[in-house]
Amino acid sequence: MSRPIRADISLAAFGRNYAAARRHAPQSRVLAVVKANAYGHGLARVAKALPQADGFATLEIDGAVRLRESGFVREIVLLEGFFEPAELTAIAASRLATAVHSEDQLRMLETLRLPAPVDCYLKINTGMNRLGFAPEAAREVLGRLQASGAARSITLMTHFATADGHEGVHEAMNRFETATHGIDLPKSLANSAAIFAHPRTHADTVRAGIALYGATPFADRSAEELGLAPAMTLRSRLISIQDLGPGDPVGYGATFHALHAMRVGVVACGYADGYPRHAPNGTPVLVDGVRTVTAGRVSMDMITVDLTAAPGARVGSEVVLWGEGLPIDEVAHSAGTVGYELMCALAPRVPVVEVA
Ligand SMILES: *Cc1c(COP(=O)(O)O)cnc(C)c1O
Repeated sequence: MSRPIRADISLAAFGRNYAAARRHAPQSRVLAVVKANAYGHGLARVAKALPQADGFATLEIDGAVRLRESGFVREIVLLEGFFEPAELTAIAASRLATAVHSEDQLRMLETLRLPAPVDCYLKINTGMNRLGFAPEAAREVLGRLQASGAARSITLMTHFATADGHEGVHEAMNRFETATHGIDLPKSLANSAAIFAHPRTHADTVRAGIALYGATPFADRSAEELGLAPAMTLRSRLISIQDLGPGDPVGYGATFHALHAMRVGVVACGYADGYPRHAPNGTPVLVDGVRTVTAGRVSMDMITVDLTAAPGARVGSEVVLWGEGLPIDEVAHSAGTVGYELMCALAPRVPVVEVA
């Protein structure tokens, strides 16, 4: 038998979660965001599981071109656009859509001879302060893009910094509406948090990322409350059991000591598999379907878990690190991060099994 870790990826979950996003934004086109190898789930796998998607949005141009070449005929948007002339030419040749967020990109569109005009998402910075043109510059930039002749279509776009939090989208929406008032072009604003929490942002096209994968974008609303099913379940098994006496330590740094006689299970899963090294003692884990906690530091290939709650556990017992029965968001919260980071970090050495 080989090392027992694996990631089960539920193909049905993508369809269910896509449908949940669509239910919340019924008047909008729903782009499935598949950047970072579909948040660790496999770009080709997710694309194949979502033939009903109105389109896909990603960052990596190679993946976008492959998706086009695999026969997907609807929209594929590059969320950061292009970085050099050759990429813009490839975008035009593969009929991809591109974000246009910078003066550099605009100049390339103005000066390059392209094989065909491209679909452009003109990005306006409404407070995130990462990418995009200042709201005050939006009209002038739009005029230049239209005059360039390089744009086959133009969608006005922004991205929210606080759609998931109590600040909400009010200020960003005011800036966007002021910048675009009276301009009759399609608009794309909403990420997953805005899809679920802010209907006024839905407009023509929404961009669903984390929700597709069955995790929550919110700190205070669970994926289950949002009607989302986990797509990834990280599974392994116990490969050893240690009987500890009072005061015995476990693992590197001896960060955990048994208070009394207890059993500790050793799980074949460590930070080289994508499990967060900074997950502290007490991070939730399932053993034989019973909820228990980690005890001792996460190492490269193993974690150790308290078996007090699972007296029947033995070598070979099933362990769920996150997914079915244990929301990834709970593990992330314990480790001081978000579900996004954990799923993106799934390591290439973990075998993936596609399940219904
Ligand atoms: C990643 C990304 C999204 C998706 O965000 P989620 O929170 O995962 O839904 C949407 N829009 C842009 C521009 C992004 O970069």
